[in-house]
Formats: sequence, structure tokens, C-alpha cells
Amino acid sequence: MIWLKDSFKKAYVEKFIEIQGSMPNTGTSWEKYRALVVLIKEKMKISQAAESMNDSSPDQEKQVYYFSLEFLIGKLLSYYLINLGIKDVVQEGLEELGIDLEDLIAEENDAALGNGGLGRLSACYLDSMAFLGIPGQGNGIRYKYGLFQQKIVNGFQVELPDNWLKNEYPWEMRKSDNTVVVKFKGHVRTESIKGKLTFFHEDYEPVLAVPYDIPMLGYGNLNRINNLRLWSAEPIKDDLDWVSFNQGDYSKAVAYRSEVEAISYILYPEDSSHAGRELRLRQEYFFTAAGLSTIIRYFKKKNNSFSGFARKVAIHINDTHPALCVPELMRIFMDEEDLGWDEAWNITVNTISFTNHTILPEALEKWPVEIMKSQCPRIYMIIEEIDRRYREEMHHMHPEKRDLIEHTAIIRDGQIHMAHLAVIGSNSVNGVAELHTKILKTQVLKDFYTIYPYKFNNKTNGVSHRRFLLEANPDLSRLISESIGEDWIRQSESLEKLLPYTSDTAFLEKLADVKYHNKCRLANYINDKMNIQVDPSSIFDIQVKRIHAYKRQLLNILKIMDLYNRWREDPSMDIYPTTFIFGGKVAPGYQYAKSIIKLITTMAQRINTDPALGGKMKVIFLENFNVSLAEMIYPAADISEQISTASQEASGTGNMKFMLNGAITLGTLDGANVEIRRAVGDENIAIFGLKANEVMNYYQWGGYKSWEEYQNFPRLKRVVDQLVDGSLGSSNEFAGIYESLLRDNDQYFVLKDFRSYTDTWQKVNLWYQHKLSWASSCLVNIGKGGVFSSDRAIKEYADDIWHVPYQNEIPGPQEQSGINQIKHAYK
Ligand SMILES: *Cc1c(COP(=O)(O)O)cnc(C)c1O
Repeated sequence: MIWLKDSFKKAYVEKFIEIQGSMPNTGTSWEKYRALVVLIKEKMKISQAAESMNDSSPDQEKQVYYFSLEFLIGKLLSYYLINLGIKDVVQEGLEELGIDLEDLIAEENDAALGNGGLGRLSACYLDSMAFLGIPGQGNGIRYKYGLFQQKIVNGFQVELPDNWLKNEYPWEMRKSDNTVVVKFKGHVRTESIKGKLTFFHEDYEPVLAVPYDIPMLGYGNLNRINNLRLWSAEPIKDDLDWVSFNQGDYSKAVAYRSEVEAISYILYPEDSSHAGRELRLRQEYFFTAAGLSTIIRYFKKKNNSFSGFARKVAIHINDTHPALCVPELMRIFMDEEDLGWDEAWNITVNTISFTNHTILPEALEKWPVEIMKSQCPRIYMIIEEIDRRYREEMHHMHPEKRDLIEHTAIIRDGQIHMAHLAVIGSNSVNGVAELHTKILKTQVLKDFYTIYPYKFNNKTNGVSHRRFLLEANPDLSRLISESIGEDWIRQSESLEKLLPYTSDTAFLEKLADVKYHNKCRLANYINDKMNIQVDPSSIFDIQVKRIHAYKRQLLNILKIMDLYNRWREDPSMDIYPTTFIFGGKVAPGYQYAKSIIKLITTMAQRINTDPALGGKMKVIFLENFNVSLAEMIYPAADISEQISTASQEASGTGNMKFMLNGAITLGTLDGANVEIRRAVGDENIAIFGLKANEVMNYYQWGGYKSWEEYQNFPRLKRVVDQLVDGSLGSSNEFAGIYESLLRDNDQYFVLKDFRSYTDTWQKVNLWYQHKLSWASSCLVNIGKGGVFSSDRAIKEYADDIWHVPYQNEIPGPQEQSGINQIKHAYK
């Protein structure tokens, strides 16, 4: 392997000199980082070009296009070095040049073009598509500002802009040649030409969509490097040119420029709620129209008729944000390619598939007709016609069911229902966990389920076990590979081979050591960042995710308040020392959730400085939870808090990442927790609280009185009272929380679940003290975690929805032509 290292060093030094005109030791860390990325990117391109020369077959492979407004990809460098199998070589080579790879990794921006679970899911899916050799491209927006960075100041969240492109982003490639024009506003003129109605979009506002591609590289699969294509909005001409074009109105030109640039300026920071702003609709149409035009152009290069389109192209829409794919594809087929309605509609429906992500009513997208009409007049006409034909067809099929038509129509009360458009215009509708899909079929989309039962299916979410275990937890990965070999990296189900070790004491002790080591790593980070010492031998009880009422961080902190009350009263109480860790961002306008952060930080301040506790409890709120931090946190967890109100969390993916890193889930029977429990068995998980059907019965029929819960449980009454009785300070900060629990009858059943939650927590705390039993259950969680890999999920999408082949038998490292290629490239 020595030759490999030396050739890497040589290539790296040459690349650095080429870019900077000097030797690496004179450069900054950022320059060294950039040179490494440029070098790797070039090597990838060489092998990709070689591959595409081999692809001379006239028959185009079926392509999958994954449309999503969010891709939370995080950092790429370290992960790609692992996927290329050259991380050790690069690390050692750089070391000999006096460069620490970790310093270069630290220079990379964590690309946060997403809010949370939905955006991370699309990143994991691109990862698995590349690994499995599926030609799958991501399509999204190149936001100038990603998700805000969070600081905690005096216990409150403060948002700072995420200027991630400040220094340039060396992974991306601007593809100016593939620029397209997207048309907004204006009017549609209709004319009959040779007896055919023809539509002319006039006086429109033109917006240039310029694509930037980020290579998506899967583990050990250089043969298939996919792209994440992100679109940037630019004005069509230099201001002044455009002014002279258009009556020389200077202020109009300036307004035009900023209106256009606004489209790809910033990611909306609302997680699970519908912003409803005109700019958001412009974002949605912008990336949809731009993405589709790329698809059509590529298709036409290889095919001369659209009749086979749906056999060569699958378009997947991640939630309803890209649902304008339906009318836009219709527009292209009819207005630009001259197909008739029926043929265009058939192809469109057969091409598009749709994932629903939420049942929260506030998250369902609805657009006022007026906004759609003024921003996208031709698209609006097509939506109207889809709606008209849908109503007509339903009326023929079910003349007696007026209600059904009204409930499922696309346009109603002056609003366009995007989920209805997506269901009607696609061939597949999937939920993201078994329970969630069941709720879609029986509640949220039940009318559609009676009309199109064959469209509905479940695809339980998955996560990249290579990012969140192989990369994030190198010590555990090494322990696993030493015991069962490396198959699990390519075949996550092979993690089951760990199960025999559940009775192997020596192995369980090693497993506990790895966990302890990861907790030390996180403890050091906390000490560096916050100057608070936490004990790595205490239980790490962790809840990290977006802060939202339905996720019930409130329930967790009320539990901590209760424990603190009891510990102060009885210092001899037999509870194992615990460090409670929180992290997560709040949408800037979401005051209620912001007050929950303040409650957590207020309790943290109090508990962490109380000498009487003797360090038995600590509470930490880690600021700026993002993918990089996630990769340090999941491996360090003992307890994974997954405590949403049953029925409200569609799937969750954090639960899977914790599990794969050997944490025990403390959770409700919600989302994929249901499947996690089935996989590990009741004895390896801690479940509490109301069931989904109980919650939904309360929502439907009433009967819950939070006041009674409060009155009937003194420990609970005490913590609720403490929110407003001055024990947390004199301000009225937590009155809103208090009112939500009592006056507003506790929509998320926090008080109802409090008793079973605290009881179950206490049992888990006792359980932890039986070290071997605990470690054995942690191991069961890892061993059973393979099914929650995004590889499994993507294979199901490929088989059932997209109908594309994938490499089932992934060759071992020796046969990897791609790896050989990169080795040769460095020689
Ligand atoms: C996995 C992940 C999420 C989703 O977490 P949930 O617990 O499923 O809500 C959110 N943010 C980041 C950075 C993640 O990695």
C-alpha cells in the first residue's frame, strides 16, 4: 500500500501547486481542504467519463429523479474518503506532509439545505441510490442561505444566517450550458390554429435557472456517480441590458433583479408547517419547471417518441412541495411537444410517484387560487382542467357521492389542495411507516383510498447506516467488523450476525467500552463549547430533533423538573446519575416552541449549578444541532427519547440512527417506533403512553380533561404549578406553556402521558444498572437495526414504485473496478 500513499502525496502536492502556485505548507487550512476536494473530484470525473463511454447502448437506462425542496447533506469530504476506500491512505499521506486531515475536514461547510427529517431523508436516499447503482438524480434549490445557525444567548434561541457559500463550495460544478428559462406571471393568450387551441404565455417575467451539480458517491461504487442538481435563480440579463429592452425603467430593473434573486435566496425554516407565502410558491414552481426541462431534454436526446417516457423516467416528489410537476409536465407535453390531453395525462400519471410525510393539518399545503393564477397563469389553467375532468369522471363513476367529490377535489373554496393534486396526478402514494400509512388510508386520505386503493403503499423510512454508523461511529464499526466481518457495510441485514454475541460477556464489555469512549468524545465537546463538565459514566439520555409541540420536549423537561423536586427532597433516592441532553432548532416565528427551549435552559442553569445535587444530574442544551453534530451525538447515547404524541410523528429517522448506534429507545408507539419494537422485541425497548387509536378517538370524540390529570397527581400538579408560581424566576415566560396544558386542554396529551412516562423512565434507569443485561439489549438493537438502512428502503422503492433494477450482489473490494481505477489514478 506504500506505493498508493506516495502516489497520493505526489498528486496532492501537484494539485496544490497548480491551484495556489505554492507548496502546501504555505497554505491555509481552507486552501489545503479545497485542493483535496478538487483532486478527489477530478479523480471521480475521470472514472465517470470512462464509464459513460462504455454506455454506448442505444437504449437509455431508466432514470429516477428525486424532487425535493430540501437536501440536508451535511459534510461530504470525510464520508467520500471512506466510500472511496482511501481515508487511511489520505490521512497518512497528509500526515507525512505535515497536514492533519481533521483540520481540513473542519474547514468544510455543513451543507444544511434542509430543516430536519424530511431533508435528511432525501440525502440518505441519494446515498443509497448511488451505492445500489441506480441512476438517480436529486433535484432541488441551491439556496444562498441554508437553515439558520442557532446560538443560545441568555437561554434563548438566536438565529444567525448560514452563509455557506461565502468561501465557494468546492464540491459543486456550475453547468451554465444547461441553464433554462422559467416563466412567471404574465398572461395566456389562446388562439385556434388549424382548429387546435394553442396557448401563448405572454408578458411573462423570465427567470434564469442555472444548475449546480454536486456528485453523489456511494460506498465502493465509482461506477455510478449520480448528481444532486441544485438550481440557482438569476436575472436573465445584466440589469441595464434588460432596462434598455424594457422602456428604460431603472427602478423596475432593480426590482426585477431582486425579485428573481429572492427565489433561491433562502430556505424557509418552517418544519412541518405551511408558510403560504408567494415566494415559497415561486420556489416550488422554479425548481420543478427547471428540473423537468432537464429531464425532457435528456430524454429527447435518446428517444424520438414520448410514448415510452414512463418506462424510461420515474419522477418522485418528496412531499407536496414539488407537486406542480403534475401540471408542468402536462404543459410541456401539450404546449411544447404537441401531445393531446389524454396521452399527456397517461404519461404524466404513470411517471410521477408521491411520498406523504405528515398528517399535521397545519403542514398540508394549500395555495389561494389568486396567487397561483398570477404567478403561474398557464399552470393554473391546467390545474383547473385537471380538477374539472376529475370531478366529471367521479360524477360518472359515483353519481350518488357528492360529498366524496367535494372532499377530494383539487380546487375548493378558492384554494388549491396540493396533496389532492399529487394523489390524483401520480401512480403511487406512500406513507413513511406502517402506522402512518394506515392513518393515511383510514383517516387523512381515506376518500382517495376508496377511489384508488391500488395507489397506496407503505415505504418505511431508512437512514444511511454507512453515514450514521460506519462513519459516525468508527470504534463500534471496527468492533463489528472484527467480529462478523465487513459484509454489514454493504448488506445491512448482516448486522444480525451480531445476535449470538448477546450472551458473550467479553464482547458486551467491549461494546460498553466503545460507548463509554463515544460519551467521552461528546463530554469533551460539551466541556469545550459550554464549559460544563458532564460525567461520561452517567446515563446519557438524549432528545435531539426539531423542537415542536408534537415531539413533546415539554414532557421530557417536566420529567426532569419532577426528578429534581424529588431528589432535593430525598437525596438518598436510588436513581443512577443521568445527563439529559437536548438539541434542536425552532422555526423563528414559533414562539411556543421557543419558550420550551427557554424552559430547558432555565432548568439546566438551575440544576447544573446546584451543589446539593452532587452532580447526579446535569442538563445540557447543545446549540446548533445539525448533521455534523448529529454524527457525534447518536453514537454517545444510552437512551433515545422518541416521545411524540402517538399518531403525530409520521416515521422519525432519528430513532433509527440511535438504534444503530446501540441506544435503547424510550418511546411511544408512534411512527417507526412500532416497527423498531417489533424488530427488537418488548424486552429491548421501553414503550409507554397512549396508543395512536386512543389519541385519535380523543381527537374525534372528545373526553380528555387535562385538568383532571393535573388535579389527580400531586407530583404532576407541582411541576405544572412551578411554571407560573415564581419558582423559575419572576417573569411570565412560561405562562403560555401553562395555559396550553390547562386552559387549552393539552392538545398533545403531555399530562395524560406523564405518569406512564416517568414510571417507565425510572424502570429504564434501574435497568441500566444491570450492565450486562443493558449491553445485551443495546446489541440486539444494533443487530436488528439493519432493516432500517436506507438501502432497504430504496430497494423497496425501486422494486415497487420506480421499477428500476439495482445491484443486489455488490462485488467485494477486490473486484471493484471503480476502486481499482482510483488506485491507478493515484499511481
Ligand atoms: C435524523 C435527523 C433529523 C430527524 O430526526 P427525528 O428525530 O426523526 O425528528 C433531524 N435533523 C438532523 C440533523 C438529523 O440528522
